[in-house]
This record gives sequence, C-alpha cells and structure tokens, in this order.
Amino acid sequence: MNTDSFALRHIGPRRSDLPEMLKTVGVDSMEQLIFETIPDDIRLKGDIVLDKALSENEYLEHITELASKNRVFKTYIGLGYNQSFTPPVIQRNILENPGWYTAYTPYQAEIAQGRLEALLNFQTMVVDLTGMELANASLLDEATAAAEAMALLFAVRERDQKKDDVVKFFVSEEILPQTLSLLETRSEPLGIELVVGNHEAFDFSSGFFGMILQYPGRTGRVYNYKEVIAKAKDAQIKVAVAADILSLVKLESPGTFGADVVVGTTQRFGIPLGYGGPHAAYFATKEEYKRSIPGRIIGVTKDTDGNRALRMALQTREQHIKRDKATSNICTAQVLLAVMAGMYAVYHGPRGLMNIATNVHNSAATLADSLEKLGFEQLNETYFDTIAIKADHSQVRQIAEKKEVNFYYSNSNTVSISVNETTTIKDLNRIVAIFSEVAGKTASEITELITGNKIPKEVNRKTEFLTNEVFNSYHSETELMRYIKKLERKDLSLNHSMISLGSCTMKLNAAAEMLPLSDPQWGNMHPFVPIEQAEGYQQMLHKLEDQLTEITGFAGTSLQPNSGAQGEYAGLMVIRAYHESKGQGHRNICLIPSSAHGTNPASATMAGMKVIVTKASENGNIDVEDLREKAIEHRDNLSCLMVTYPSTHGVYESAIKEITSLIHENGGQVYMDGANMNAQVALTHPGAIGADVCHLNLHKTFAIPHGGGGPGVGPICVAKQLVPFLPGNPLIKSGGENAISAISAAPWGSSLACLISYAYITMLGMEGLKKSTQYAILNANYIKERLHGHFDVLYTGERGRAAHEMIVDCRPFKENGIEVTDIAKRLMDYGFHAPTVSFPVAGTLMIEPTESESKAELDRFCDAMIAIRKEIDASDKNTENNILKNAPHTLAMLTVDNWEFPYSRQEAAFPLSYVSENKFWPSVRRVDDAYGDRNLVCSCEPIESYMEA
Ligand SMILES: *Cc1c(COP(=O)(O)O)cnc(C)c1O
Repeated sequence: MNTDSFALRHIGPRRSDLPEMLKTVGVDSMEQLIFETIPDDIRLKGDIVLDKALSENEYLEHITELASKNRVFKTYIGLGYNQSFTPPVIQRNILENPGWYTAYTPYQAEIAQGRLEALLNFQTMVVDLTGMELANASLLDEATAAAEAMALLFAVRERDQKKDDVVKFFVSEEILPQTLSLLETRSEPLGIELVVGNHEAFDFSSGFFGMILQYPGRTGRVYNYKEVIAKAKDAQIKVAVAADILSLVKLESPGTFGADVVVGTTQRFGIPLGYGGPHAAYFATKEEYKRSIPGRIIGVTKDTDGNRALRMALQTREQHIKRDKATSNICTAQVLLAVMAGMYAVYHGPRGLMNIATNVHNSAATLADSLEKLGFEQLNETYFDTIAIKADHSQVRQIAEKKEVNFYYSNSNTVSISVNETTTIKDLNRIVAIFSEVAGKTASEITELITGNKIPKEVNRKTEFLTNEVFNSYHSETELMRYIKKLERKDLSLNHSMISLGSCTMKLNAAAEMLPLSDPQWGNMHPFVPIEQAEGYQQMLHKLEDQLTEITGFAGTSLQPNSGAQGEYAGLMVIRAYHESKGQGHRNICLIPSSAHGTNPASATMAGMKVIVTKASENGNIDVEDLREKAIEHRDNLSCLMVTYPSTHGVYESAIKEITSLIHENGGQVYMDGANMNAQVALTHPGAIGADVCHLNLHKTFAIPHGGGGPGVGPICVAKQLVPFLPGNPLIKSGGENAISAISAAPWGSSLACLISYAYITMLGMEGLKKSTQYAILNANYIKERLHGHFDVLYTGERGRAAHEMIVDCRPFKENGIEVTDIAKRLMDYGFHAPTVSFPVAGTLMIEPTESESKAELDRFCDAMIAIRKEIDASDKNTENNILKNAPHTLAMLTVDNWEFPYSRQEAAFPLSYVSENKFWPSVRRVDDAYGDRNLVCSCEPIESYMEA
C-alpha cells in the first residue's frame, strides 16, 4: 500500500471503518453498493484514462517547476488589471486561512456574522467611493458586471419606453475591449441593440434606454461626464459607469454626477492578478432599483433579543425564487475576494488609499515628464494612471520585451502605459531606458516623483469617503490581525465541522492544493500578456481542460465561466450558436424539469430561450410521458433540455438514456447540470448518459473552496459538434474555431483558482477519483441507514439506495410545531452547519456528506440528528418556548443570572458529550429576516443611527 498517496488524506473513512460501514448499509462490498446504486446501462465498463497520481510532495515539485515556466514581466497593460500589493497580514490571515476560505455562503446568518461584517465593509467601501446608495456583495468580474448593469437598465425601462420598443444601448468607444465583448454576448439574446461610438458626439434624441461610459477611459483619459449624464437624464436615458476603483479616491464619484449604476473591479485592492482571476467586481446603484440588483446584498437586521445582526437581504430577488422571471442568474459570486478587498480598505483607511492613489498618479506624471523630455509626445491631456505615448509599436515592443516589460499597444502608433501601486522609481527608470533606446538618446535618471496635476479640476474629488469607524481603526498589523481573527471566530467553517450541504459538495480543500496560490509566479501574471510568457499557465490550463474532457466523456472544455450559473449560460449560448450554424436559429424552447435549480431557468431566459417546465412524477423523477409530450409538441422549435444528473432529488434516474435520446430525436441538445458530478466521476459521465454539454462546478466537485460564497469556476465540457463554438476573448486568441463572444472578461476565467482543481485531479488520479466517488456514495448511504427510523428519506433509487446525497423529510414535525428552520438552527448548538434547507423540496433538509468526512464525524452528525429527533418528540405545538424554537443558544443567553427556560443550560449548549470539548458559539440569536427587509440598511451605519431605530 502506498502510504504517501493523496487519496488517503483526501478520503475520510479509514480502511478499518469499511466493514462496519458496509454492514450498516447492508452490503458485502463497495462494488455491491455501487452496483445497487448506479444503473447498469450508464455505469462505465472501462476506466477513464488519466496520468498516474502524484503524491503531495511530487505534486508540489511539479507545480513549482511549471511556475518557473511563467515569465513574469513588469506589466503596464492596465485594461482593468493592475498589479497591487496584497498586504501580507491579509494574505496570511484570510487568503491562506481555512477559517475564511472554507466557509459556505452565509445562509445560516447566526454562524456567519464574521464574513457578513466583512462583506458589509466591502459594500460600504463601494457605496462611498462610487457615491451610490446601495451596493451588492460582489459580482464575477467587471465585464459581466457591466452586462448586468445593461440588463438591469433594460429591465427597469420607463413604461412608455417599453411601448415604443426602445431597445438601443449606447456603449462608449472608451469601454474596455473585454467589456464590449461581454455586452455583445449578453445583448443579442435579450433583443438589445448595441451602438458603439464617441460619447461626445452622441445624439440624445434617438431611441436609447441606456448608455455605458468608462471612467477613466480605456486609453487613460479622464472625462468630465457631468454634462453627458445630465443630458441623458433629460432624455430618459439611464447611465451606467464602469469606474476604476482606485481612481475614485481622487476623482469625483459617478454618483455625484447622477449615474444610475456604477460597476468595476476591486482587483487592484490587494488581489493577485492570477492570469485573470478570481477578483471581485462591484455593482452599485440607487435605492429605487433595489429589487432588481443582481447577486447578493448584505443587510443589517436584529436578532431575537433586538441586538444588531447581519444577514443576506431581499432574497426574493434571487433566481431561486424568480426562476424564469429573473433578470440575472448570479448565485456564486466572489465573496473571498470581496472580503480581501474590503479588508484592504480597512487596513489602509481613507488616508492610506489617498497616499496610494496619489503616488500612482504622480508616478504616471513623472513618467510622462521624462518621456516628453526625451522628445516623445504624450497624448492624454488628462489621466489618472495611464499615459499614451506616440511611438512606433514594433520598435518599442522589441526593446521592451527584451527588458521584460509589457505595455498595451492600443493602436498603430500609440503605446499605452498604466502604472500601479507597485511601480517604483526604479521601474520608471527601466521604462524610460526602453524609450531612450528607441530614441537613441540618453535620459536623465528619475530620482523623485513630481506632483501630477492631470486630473481635470471639475472632477477632482471633493466628497469624503470611508469615514466610518471601521476604516479608521485597524491600521497597525496587530490591530488588523486581531480584527480578522475576531470576525473569523464568528464563522463556522470546514475547519470546525462537516458542512453537509446537499447540491454544494463541501469537501476537503487540501492545503497542498492551495499552497501554489501564494506563489507570485502564479499570482503576478496579467491575463493579456503575450501567450508565450505564460507557458506554465498554458500547460496547466490545457492539462486541466483535457482532464475534465476525459472525466466528462466529451470532446472539449472551456474554463472561461466564473461560476456554475455562468457555465449554464455559456453552454446554452454554445447550443444556440450550434443551431444557428445549421440554419436552425429559430430553435428556442428549453425544457426544464420542475425540480431544477433556480439558475437553470434564469440562465435559459438570459440566453433568449423560452422555458417550458416539465413535471415530476410521484417518486420525484422526471415524468417521462410529460416530457415526451412536450418534446414532440415543440419538436420544430426545441433547442434543448436542461437536466440535473443524478437528479436534484439525489437519485440516479434509470430512464436517463431514454430521456436524452427522446430529446435528440426531436432535434434538441441535452444540457446536463453538473453540480452533482461528485456522484459520477470515474464511475459514469455525461457522455455516457447521452448529454451534449455540461458545466462542472470546480468549487463543488473539484475542491476549490467555497470562500464563503465564491470564487467559483464553472467550466463547460462539450461533445464534438459543439467544440467549434466554445467562447473566445477579443484580445487573446482562445476558444473554438467559431467561438462565441466572451462569457467572462479573461480568456481562461479564474486561472489562479484552476490550480486547485488541477492539483486535485493530478494528485488523485483515476483510482483516487473513483474511490472518492465510491466513498461519497458510501458516506451518504451510511447516514441514510443510521437515520433510518428517525427521519424519512424522500426519494431513493430503484434498489432503495441514495446517490451521494439525500433529502430528509421534516414536514411531519409540524404536528409538534417544529419547522425545518428550527432543526437547522438547533444543529448550530450541536456544532454543525445545517444541510441545504428547503431545496429542492420545501420543508426538507438535503444532506451531502462527501467522501472527505470520516466515520467519526458522520457518527457525530447522526448522533446530533437523532438527539434532535428526540427533542422534536418532546416538543409541543402549543408552546413556542422550547429548546428548538429558542435555538441557537448564545453564550450571552447561557450566562444570564436568572435562567428562565424550561430546560437546563447543559441541555441548551452542551447536549452531547462531544460538544463540550469543541464548542462553537453562535454570536447572535436567531436573526429577524422580515425586519431586515422592511428596514433595508446595506452599509456600515453609524452606531447612533442604529440605536435610534
Ligand atoms: C450550485 C448549483 C448551481 C449554480 O452554481 P453557481 O456556481 O452557484 O452559479 C447550479 N445548479 C445546481 C444544481 C447547483 O447545485
């Protein structure tokens, strides 16, 4: 036996646990369990083919070698990506800390107050800098955020405009190229007509509903948009502004000028470039559009005792509720990166940020001055950090690349140079040296920065920002380290206990998978550098694409989408392009089973499809007859079926092959939602069930940590006929031969995070992956059997087995006055995060243990559930004052002088013996959701204002 094998670290149960677990489940062997679980006709007969697994040490050696193939130049390309310093205190205490990166999306607010506060800081920072009223807790990247802004403005068109069919959207030619590409992708299916042009020549009399401006512009110029925005307002045209977050420290905010939406990226607030991501985009708007904001919003509310508490606000906006009426499909966003960017603002505070921004501006001015002295013409009359030098490209480029420097060669005789926080005087001299070689002259050395004055007076920032206490308190490392720890302690993450979230696959995020993310050879690479400089990345990404292609049984993969929902959208757009290529562009019907995840119908609508919902049968499976009827009825216009496999109900439907061929017979393609891929890897695959495309959630099945709600990576894997249409990028050649336009800003999406999944697959290999799937199934069935007699499992396969997850019915407990939420909250007292609540069936819990949990942890969880079941039996419908309704119990409750509850303190907080040696204290009592939505507060409020309310 190989004691060095990573599989031994990744998989929880020990070999010695196996006999007892199999016995509990009632099978003789693992093989028998798999045989009874996965239907015969889709089980792979051979093995998938992957390289031999590497041990952790072998992998770390391998990845360091690959990293050395990245040639990290000094890069001044800009275009929305600027190198910055990640403060080491943030790198070590957040980015490299499982207490932060393994947390789940903060649905269970009582055990998530830490990251909720960090996100509220992020929102406050965005609101302050943009001058808007409301911000969300991040989006995926600037380009998709701009597309979301367009969609929001389209959705909120004035009523009389709708009658007139006002469908035009003006895009300033100063927009970033990747943003333009995204706007093209997103506008077309919605029937929006893009018009690109010069905002100064824009004719306000024509039929536009909105416009988008870039601030500062792509070429670096700082325009005064005050007048344009005012004129647009008069013409009932709504305005979105894509703004550089650091420039806003010195530039007056778009909100002050009357913008309706402001978007951008917060990458340059301490986030590594990572060859494109992950980074947190921001989205800010006016209060009046609060019901249409995409993504998650953190809001302030109160708990049972009236104390301040935070939670996710206005969740009825989300695609989970709105489904095909949703205007956005955002689910996973970029929480960890938003937490880091917000903390960067906390650390530097308003004065620190002003110093950084001023230095950046002065560096640009100093450089311009030196180059002008060399005889070069600098074309930007105004700028913040980007100057434009008139010069012959080929000559500059040759010398610059020899000196390991990248510029942006924007048009035939302009070289664009964006400086950043990390740019030193030495760096400036290196740039000057390049140009002196071009000019054949010697330049005098820069020894200090001059004071820049290239920001037009009218847009010089006058409004204050980051005045709140939190941005003015933690400027020493000791203080910030303790603040981060204080927040971390409020959050239950995987480093405390199992988080058995059905459909979300919270498995181990191994340290060896995460380590390379801290290496600057991976971190400091700009996404638009010439491809030959990124050889380490290219090899890793292509290898990962090949691994995923093999695992899904398909022909090609795109890593571009930054979340599962973006993957859905990408896959549907690829299907659309395929139909169009066959002269079948009219095919627009998308069949979706009623049990589907909310992102499915939302993505289909965004892709311009018409959603037809198909029924579920009594046992929770797809009603094949209903599906057949609908497929045939719509055969002339059928685009595709979106199907989750194993089903959302945690069952391997045996009719799946019949279902996929039924769709093909009627001219449609089959989209498989791959969120449940953890139940398939190396045992079966979407290719084998007859699908044509699937997305994978690398942040579920392939070990990228959830980060408290992001980052995510949602690649799509496709069959042969769809490969030519895989998405491209306007600046770097990527994607298929007939690539659709961009799905994300960067050509390979969140490349840095892809390292994690690459590590996962490379260290497990075929055997390890197969074992992982087997153990995921075993662990689920073990829980199912242990809970037998205490809880009913709603759906099972034909032989009575669960897949990798199961739905536990909590509706019968209403008789005792107990709701599923009470059970979820009570689990906190036992030290557990609740499983998925009320999805896909209201009143139920969906439990998914994953392969990473040990038998001991599964037993603790089952003991807790069984103990809770006894508490339910003891509850009485006629009283609210019981141990479940009062849950969770805080330390403050426990330590009051007179204890007035009808049960003991011991029962409340230490109900089982394992709890006392590893107690997790929820930091607030049950939060009041309705109050928070009625009194929406989404930024850090001065303490006094809260006390008045
Ligand atoms: C998680 C999930 C999604 C969405 O993925 P995101 O990365 O959150 O956008 C889609 N479908 C199913 C079934 C899921 O569980």
